[in-house]
Amino acid sequence: MGGKARSQSSTPGGASIRTRTQSPQRVAKVLDVLAQTWAHAECELDHDNPYQLLCATVLSAQSTDRQINKVTPALFERYPDAHALAEADPGELEDMIRSTGFYRLKAKRLREMAQLLVERHGGEVPGNMRQLVALPGVARKTANVVLGVAFDIAAGIVVDTHVQRVSRRLGLTEQRDPDKIERDLMELVPKRRWISVSHELIWHGRRVCDARKPDCENCSLMPLCPSALSAQATGAKGQSKSGERR
Ligand code: SF4
Repeated sequence: MGGKARSQSSTPGGASIRTRTQSPQRVAKVLDVLAQTWAHAECELDHDNPYQLLCATVLSAQSTDRQINKVTPALFERYPDAHALAEADPGELEDMIRSTGFYRLKAKRLREMAQLLVERHGGEVPGNMRQLVALPGVARKTANVVLGVAFDIAAGIVVDTHVQRVSRRLGLTEQRDPDKIERDLMELVPKRRWISVSHELIWHGRRVCDARKPDCENCSLMPLCPSALSAQATGAKGQSKSGERR
């Protein structure tokens, strides 16, 4: 395991008690079922190298992988590497990614990111967390995707909107802040499972544990899930509050 279960409740006297849903046995079962259910889960952003995956992941904010996969073939043909992207005409770049939403901001970030890749790393994508999160538009979520998928480095767990929702419903965390959720998950999940569990939780959120309509009756995790069925009743309410899209 990656360490002792961290999600504990503080008593008024300062002592802490581990919540029932965080028992190592239950967490181990949840991880086993996730692995069995989503044995073939993988990153769904089309890419051929770390540069393409980094660009696609930055673009995927507030969008869907399907939308991103529609624009990236032409984008990567026009800008095959960081050197080309760093020199991109802003207007042309904006036009190419317009359908992904927030295209002006994304175009700005992509160009600035590429410029820093050229200045600091010779145009190559660095394979470590510290240098990745120093790039414009790159936070831990994006860095974890790139490190896990392109470099097979388990630096953390990807916490996107699906992982936030599913891990909370499964009782793996009570946090709402992505960094705190990631810390909880990293302590509950063995490090050797950090990359795979990221894909599994994302796939579970996309295919079964929908924000608005979780399919609890057909969910393999239902016997282990403290939110089973109740999530269906509150899904629509939660969706409208969070404004989730991706
Ligand atoms: S039982 Fe329902 S709420 Fe729990 S993980 Fe499955 S779909 Fe989500």
